[in-house]
Amino acid sequence: MTSHPQIPTPAHTQADSMLSRQFGRETVNYFSSSPLNRLSFLRGDHSFLSAAVRHPATRFVLLKDLAPLTKSPSELYYAHYNDIRKLVPETIYDKSEEDIIKEYDSRNTIPQLVFLGLDESRKQDGLAWKIYTGAPCFALDVTPKGSEEQQSNSKDVISALEAQGLSFLHARVVMTFSADEAAVYAQSRALVDWNNRNSFCGTCGHRTLSVNSGTKRACPPSDAARVAEGKPAERPACNTRTTLSNLSFPRTDPTIIVAVLSVDCKRILLGRSKRFPPNWYSTLAGFIEPAESVEDAVRREVWEEAGVTLSRVIIHSSQPWPYPANLMIGAIAQVSDPAHETINLSHDPELEDAKWFSIEEVEEALKVGTSALGDGPSAEYKEGGLRLPPPTAIANQLIQSAVSMDFLGDKTSKM
Ligand SMILES: [Zn+2]
Repeated sequence: MTSHPQIPTPAHTQADSMLSRQFGRETVNYFSSSPLNRLSFLRGDHSFLSAAVRHPATRFVLLKDLAPLTKSPSELYYAHYNDIRKLVPETIYDKSEEDIIKEYDSRNTIPQLVFLGLDESRKQDGLAWKIYTGAPCFALDVTPKGSEEQQSNSKDVISALEAQGLSFLHARVVMTFSADEAAVYAQSRALVDWNNRNSFCGTCGHRTLSVNSGTKRACPPSDAARVAEGKPAERPACNTRTTLSNLSFPRTDPTIIVAVLSVDCKRILLGRSKRFPPNWYSTLAGFIEPAESVEDAVRREVWEEAGVTLSRVIIHSSQPWPYPANLMIGAIAQVSDPAHETINLSHDPELEDAKWFSIEEVEEALKVGTSALGDGPSAEYKEGGLRLPPPTAIANQLIQSAVSMDFLGDKTSKM
C-alpha cells in the first residue's frame, strides 16, 4: 500500500502474528491511533491533575467554537499554561471532586478543560507520576462565554495568541494535520462539543457540572445560587441522582460504511449524493439503528439506498469521526447471486446515483482521482474519470482494500 504522511503507523501494525498473516495487516484510519496514553483511571485523581495543570511540560489544545488554534492549516499550536493562565486558575483541581459537587454554585463559571492524556514520547522533561512519565495534554474551550469576567478573560487570551500570528482553523472537516495531531484534535473536539451540548441535565433540565476532568457530567444535588434567590440550596429531585447513574457520559454514534464486491469480485458498488462534485463517488454509509447489529445495518443500508442484497459482511476497520461524535465502522461485503446485483434507487431517495465500477476503473481513480471533497483532482486526472475520497477517509481505505483483496491475508499460514 502506498504510504501517506497522514495515515497513522503505530508499531503494532508491523508485528508478526497468526492473525496478521491470516487477515492481513491492520488498517489504521485518520483521526485514530492517538500518540497520547489516555490514562482514563487518573481522570478523577485531583492530585495528579493538579500536578499536571501546573507542570512546565504540559500542553493545551485550544478550541474556539470548536475550531483549533493553529500555527498553519497543517499544524496545531500547543499552548503553555502561561498562555491561558487568565482562564484556568492554578487551583482548579485543588479540591476533591466530591467537594466541588457539594459546593456547586452555578454563578461561578469556568472554561471547559479536558484531560486528554500523557505524551509518553516526552519523558525527559515530562511529569513523573507513579510509573507514568510524559508531557500531560489538555484541551481547553476558549470560546468567550459564561460569566462576564470569563468572557473578557477569554477575549484577552485569544487576542494575545492571535497577536503572535496564530489563528483558529475554521473548516467543515479538518483533514490537514499530521496523523498524530489529527487524533489529538479529534479527541479534543469530540469532548468539548459533547460538554457544550450537555450543559443542562437531560432528566430535570437544571445545569450540569463537568467532572472526571471533562469526561463526565454530574447533576449536582444543590446549587448555592438558589439561596441568593431565596430558595433552599437543594434542587428539586432528579432521577439521575437517585441511582448509581448520577452522571452522563460522552456519546459515540456508530455508523456503518461499506465497500461492496460483486459476485465475481470484478466490480465495486459506489454511490454519490447530490452535494458531491461531478464524477465523485464513494462507499455507501448510514447510521446503525437501535437493536441492530453492524452486519444487519450494512445489509439494510445497501438495500435501502441501492436495492442491492448482500450476503457475507466482514468488519474491516473503523474510524473516529468527531463531527460531532461518530464512529465509522468499515465493512467489506459481497453479493452472492447475480440477481441481487440489480440497482434500484427508488426505495430511499438518498443517493443521486449508485453504480458498479470495474476494478480497473477504481484502481485508476485511486491513482489519479482522489482528493479532499473541496479540492480538485491531481494533474494526471482525465476529465470525466471517476473521482474518489482521499486516503484520510475510511471510504478510500475500504475501496483500496476491496480492490487489492489485502484483507484476505495469507490463508495458507496456520501458525
Ligand atoms: Zn438532573
